[in-house]
This record gives sequence, C-alpha cells and structure tokens, in this order.
Amino acid sequence: MPRVAVIPGDGIGLEVMREAVRVLEAVESRFSPGCELVHWDLGADRFLRDGITITDEEFASLSNDHDAILLGALGDPRVPGNQHARDILLGLRFRLDLYVNYRPAVLLDPALSPLKAPGDIRLDIFRENTEGVYVNLGGTFKEGTDRETAIQEDLNTFTGVERICRAAFEHAVKRGRSRVTLVDKANAMPAAGRLWRRVFALVASDFPDIDTDAMYVDAMAMDLVRRPTRYEVIVTGNLFGDILSDLAAELVGGLGAAASANVHPGRHALFEPVHGSAPDIAGQGVANPLGAIASAALMLDHLGHAEAAQAVEEAVVAAVDGGVRTADMGGDRSTEQVGTWIADRVLSGG
Ligand code: ATP
Ligand code: MG
Repeated sequence: MPRVAVIPGDGIGLEVMREAVRVLEAVESRFSPGCELVHWDLGADRFLRDGITITDEEFASLSNDHDAILLGALGDPRVPGNQHARDILLGLRFRLDLYVNYRPAVLLDPALSPLKAPGDIRLDIFRENTEGVYVNLGGTFKEGTDRETAIQEDLNTFTGVERICRAAFEHAVKRGRSRVTLVDKANAMPAAGRLWRRVFALVASDFPDIDTDAMYVDAMAMDLVRRPTRYEVIVTGNLFGDILSDLAAELVGGLGAAASANVHPGRHALFEPVHGSAPDIAGQGVANPLGAIASAALMLDHLGHAEAAQAVEEAVVAAVDGGVRTADMGGDRSTEQVGTWIADRVLSGG
C-alpha cells in the first residue's frame, strides 16, 4: 500500500487538507487498498515553536519512506519572509529534483470563466520546474547607484529541456490528447529558443501520433484569452509556465479549484493546490477545498489508483454542478460541507 506524507502546513492549508484527507478516507473504504496517510507537522507553528523549518533527516524520510507528498499550503504572516515556506518547498523541489510542474486547467462550469464564450477549456500545462530564470544565476553591479545593473541569467540544458518535453508527450499519449504545443520566446531569446525547438522536435519524433506546434509566449497569452479551446497540452520553461498557468487558472474560475503536481517521474511526487495559505480567510471555514481535493485525485492517479482518481474527479464535477460551492465560486457552503459532500459522493459511488 503506498505511503503518503500529508503536510497540511499553514492557514487554509490546514482546513482544505482536512477535507482532502476525508475524501481519501472515503476512497480507502470504497477502493481498497487505498493509501496509508502519514501526518507531518511541518509549518509556521513548528518553526515558531522549535526554530526548525525542516531537518535533513526529515528530507531523507520524505524522499525515501514515502511514495508521494500531499501538501496544503505554507505561509504565515508571523514568519518574516516566510523563511519556513521557502526552506520546505524549495528544499523539496530541488532535493527531490521535481522537474515537472503539471497544472491542469479544466472549466467545470462556463459561468466560472471571465470569458464571454469560453467553450470547453481543458489545458494541461507542463512547466519546467528546476531551470530557467528561477535558478538565480547572475548578480547586481553598482547596486544602489544610478548605474545599477542587474543580470538574471536564463539557464536551459539539453537534459532539462528533454525531460520536461518527454513528460508532456508521455502525458498526451496517456490521456489521449492529440497535440503538444511548445511555448517560448525564440525570436527574442534565440539561444534558449534554438535549444528548446531542437529538443522538442527530437522528443516529438518518438511520438509520431501526437501533433505539435510552437508559439511565442506573447501570442499564446493573447490566444489563451481569445480561443483557449484550441490548445491541449502546453510545454514551456519555468517563467512562462508560471505566468501562463496562473492565466489558465483564472480562465477556468480562479485559484480555489486549481490543482498541481510537482513530479520527478518514476521517483518522487508532491501534490498541492495552487493557492497559498490565504491568511485573510484562514480560520473562517470558508476556503474552497476543491484545489486540495483535485490535487489528491492527481496523486491517486499517479499512485496507480486510476479508478479512484476518476471517482474523486467526478464527485468534484458533481459538487460544482449541484451548486455545492464555497463563496469564491458563488456558493454558500463551508469548507467542511463541500468536503463532506464530495466524500459521501465518493463513498456512495453516485
Ligand atoms: P501565500 O503567501 O501563502 O501564497 P496568499 O495571501 O498569497 O498566501 P493565496 O492563497 O495565494 O494567498 O491567495 C490569494 C487570495 O485568494 C487569498 O487571499 C484568498 O482571498 C483567495 N483564495 C486563495 N485560495 C482560496 C481558496 N482555496 N478558497 C477561497 N479563496 C481563496
Ligand atoms: Mg500567494
């Protein structure tokens, strides 16, 4: 039975993760074997109490003794600069080399989209998670003067590009999607562009049944608003992936229901809702648990429980269709009411 480390974290992370666990317990009763859930007390309270964010032993246990990690959110206004969140999240991302950031954006109800005629949006965004401009290579010269110069390098390696492209194509095959679109800025950033386009084509040649195309990121930003249903799977670098996946989440109704996976295929995986700890609404019982529950569904699928994952996904859709929604989606249900409804639905198989 797979072992899952559950890290509720801070703020609404605690509230939404309670509901995700409730749904996983329902999964356990209906589809055995489910997974063994191991609760981890990492977050602001622990840091403020013990002065420890996360230890090397904990990193080692999370990577060696668990098949997946399910995270709520990390972030607390009492911790300056959210040092604990950076230590834990970036620590896990880099130590476990979670190079795939997968964020699906599915429109569950046309009324949730800010677009007038959204159509049937289903975007699967694959963002490279370990390279690009986020590696923080570079530096500042003549800082604080009127001649200050800041250099922020963009790192792209054959290995890094190859593995994210391959993950996107493998996903397309597995999910029966017909096209993978590369997004870059090859006209203005030609060195990175040449590498991405060459490697993308190389990987694509291993997947002759999948169509491909390439778009500049500016054109893609426009087109995602104009005609998002033209796209299926998008693969891109760290920066563009960060931006486009937020754009895509907003097209389908915002942060509350958005799920994500951070994966090193075949080795490690961490699942988390896209939203943060939202201190402004924490403790009120109004947070939308759908992002956390949908993340749990991604995890079930990753662990090989495809049928259970589908049951959870269907229950989420049914909740939205039936108006079982929190305030951010225009409803009046509490976090717990939505979680309980979905867990019951999974149990009854309805
Ligand atoms: P963090 O620093 O942990 O990222 P944040 O203040 O940036 O926290 P986010 O979670 O990123 O908060 O979300 C921004 C805003 O969106 C929140 O302040 C909250 O009002 C709203 N929001 C986020 N997640 C949810 C949710 N699950 N349900 C309802 N509203 C949400
Ligand atoms: Mg935030």
